[in-house]
Amino acid sequence: MSNRRQFLNRSALAALAASLGLWAPGKSQAFSPYRKKHNPNSSKGGPVAIATWDNRKATEAAWNVLSKNGYALDAAEQGAWIPEADPNDTSVGYGGFPDRDGFVTLDACVMDEHSNAGSVTFLEHILHPVSVARKVMEKTPHVMLSGEGALQFALAEGFQKQNLLTETARQAWEKWKKDNGYTPPTHDTIGILALDQQNRICGACTTSGWGFKMRGRVGDSPIIGAGLYVDNEVGAATATGQGELMLKTLSSFMIVELMRGGATPQEACEEAVARIAKKFPGQVENGSVQVGVLALARDGHHGAYGLRKGYSYALFQHGENKHFPATHLV
Ligand code: ASP
Repeated sequence: MSNRRQFLNRSALAALAASLGLWAPGKSQAFSPYRKKHNPNSSKGGPVAIATWDNRKATEAAWNVLSKNGYALDAAEQGAWIPEADPNDTSVGYGGFPDRDGFVTLDACVMDEHSNAGSVTFLEHILHPVSVARKVMEKTPHVMLSGEGALQFALAEGFQKQNLLTETARQAWEKWKKDNGYTPPTHDTIGILALDQQNRICGACTTSGWGFKMRGRVGDSPIIGAGLYVDNEVGAATATGQGELMLKTLSSFMIVELMRGGATPQEACEEAVARIAKKFPGQVENGSVQVGVLALARDGHHGAYGLRKGYSYALFQHGENKHFPATHLV
């Protein structure tokens, strides 16, 4: 392209951007209304562990790693192990509600401070899918393994096959079969974000998904950008709730990108939930649909927001482990 044509194209673009209020010569090239309000690089913020719902036992396990100057990925993984192994948690790992055919199928992912990611979907029989996801990240050239392939990989890596369907979950399934409803899930999926003393942010997300889901259904939790996203330059985000909505809007990625543009973690969370509500107003009217998001900026500030009342989160920071209700849209 000739220099003159390049110049004219650039001028036309600049005029268009200026007319839209996006850019003007001499002004910073700010495409976000949030720019300059919040600078996520401003200071060191670790250690922090934050998790969806009342997962204080998980944030405590993460804190035990972080407080000894441990690695954020170990913190997130070890935090995630707690609900994965808890038979009373019917949304994660062992004790999770099965699919409509009676099989417990698990989704999980991890992401590290270098933007490496690993994920497993539709995995059966393995107690700690989060650790299989970490192995996928560390030992394969891939990001995601699914179903039978994920199981084969896990077994080859030394994970033990076990029955994850508890008697309580089996009975709930039997009851569900009689009622034959297909209602949205009760939620306890854990998304956990950790910022360590060396300012590395990592995250993990693990779930048994929507109780009594269709066989083969995969939600947002193991999908990088939907259930979890980490960018160490900015921060991290994770989500819980009706995964189809986060899948359709890539909520976690959106939150991190909004923070990159200068939004506070709280503003970014609110925008992501508002976007879901705007795109899918029917879901807002459906009183049983819930969405909850969490964000952690690299300066240690956090945000949390739910579609409706009831969403909460656990935060371990400054040596204190607390459980907070999140603010919400409706
Ligand atoms: N987000 C999860 C899913 O859709 C469910 C949950 O958060 O409880 O699989």
